[in-house]
Amino acid sequence: MSTVRLPGLIDVHVHLREPGATHKEDWDSGTAAALAGGFTLVLAMPNTQPPITDETSLQEALRLASQKARCDYAQYLGAGAENIDHLASLAPRAAGLKMYLDQTYGPLRLDDMRHWMAHFENWPQNQPIVAHAEGRTLAAMILMAELFNRSIHLAHVSKAEEIVLIRKAKEKGVQVTCEVCPHHLFLSQEDALSIGEGRSEVRPRLNSLEDQRSLWENLDVIDCFATDHAPHTLSEKDSNNPPPGFPGLETILPLLFTAVHQGKLSMDDIVLRLYTNPRKIFNLPEQPNTWIEVDLDQEWIIRARELYSRCAWTPFEGRRVKGRVERVVLRGKTAYEEGRVLAWPGYGQSIREIGLS
Ligand SMILES: [Zn+2]
Repeated sequence: MSTVRLPGLIDVHVHLREPGATHKEDWDSGTAAALAGGFTLVLAMPNTQPPITDETSLQEALRLASQKARCDYAQYLGAGAENIDHLASLAPRAAGLKMYLDQTYGPLRLDDMRHWMAHFENWPQNQPIVAHAEGRTLAAMILMAELFNRSIHLAHVSKAEEIVLIRKAKEKGVQVTCEVCPHHLFLSQEDALSIGEGRSEVRPRLNSLEDQRSLWENLDVIDCFATDHAPHTLSEKDSNNPPPGFPGLETILPLLFTAVHQGKLSMDDIVLRLYTNPRKIFNLPEQPNTWIEVDLDQEWIIRARELYSRCAWTPFEGRRVKGRVERVVLRGKTAYEEGRVLAWPGYGQSIREIGLS
């Protein structure tokens, strides 16, 4: 058995569904899934019910998290048309500002570019902005970063035209960084048939094999891997109106380790994109006495029934993988070992609030 020790990993893009949809996931089950997947720090998205858009909702999310989270965390604020003037003072307590510009419905979708610009002006220069922007909207976001001379992080990049454009922008010195999700690296439209129509719904959609190939060919442009862990129950996914999204926290690492065995990337590539770059881009503190232990040679088959996510399914069901998280140590305590989550609800710390109160 070849055991390798890596730093506690960071997922900058998860949906933990609380408040509002705890039948899919909550701070407890979602952070248990994170630990089982090798993550010791997660950044939670704001499109909950209600969405996290002001002091009251942020306070409530952080209160729930402080009682239930098993790993460390921070909570994003959502950019809306109505909250532009109120967010700057909350910025130090948030993971960052999330702007939804495409493929999202409800109060967090921003269509008017004047609102984009107002958020760029108001949100503190040294705090992260993350954008859901696809295709030409992504090009518009890159322009905004250039015009306002500030950094922007582009979520779940999935297409050849997008990754090539980001390369160009980086070459010109635009302060743009990006993340790619495991389902865009390891699944394509070709897999939709076997996964099932409703279950394969995800945004951005599963891409073509050509798009998938371009992501691998432009690995050097990809700053982070992020799961976009977006759990829905099977009855929702199999309904007439299937919501988009996949769980991902517990399957990304074995998929990446398998790719290492196949010679497609290195262990350093993984640590760079799930630890070093997330810390740098999101200005995250070091978690002392924190690491994970991985058995790189263990071969196993992904089964939803063994996962901690409450949604109880995975688009990678039945996939044979090589490499498994054996143990997770978080701030000196064994938080996960051999299939069992040992950290209790409330053990997780709010990394933006350390030293603030
Ligand atoms: Zn998302």
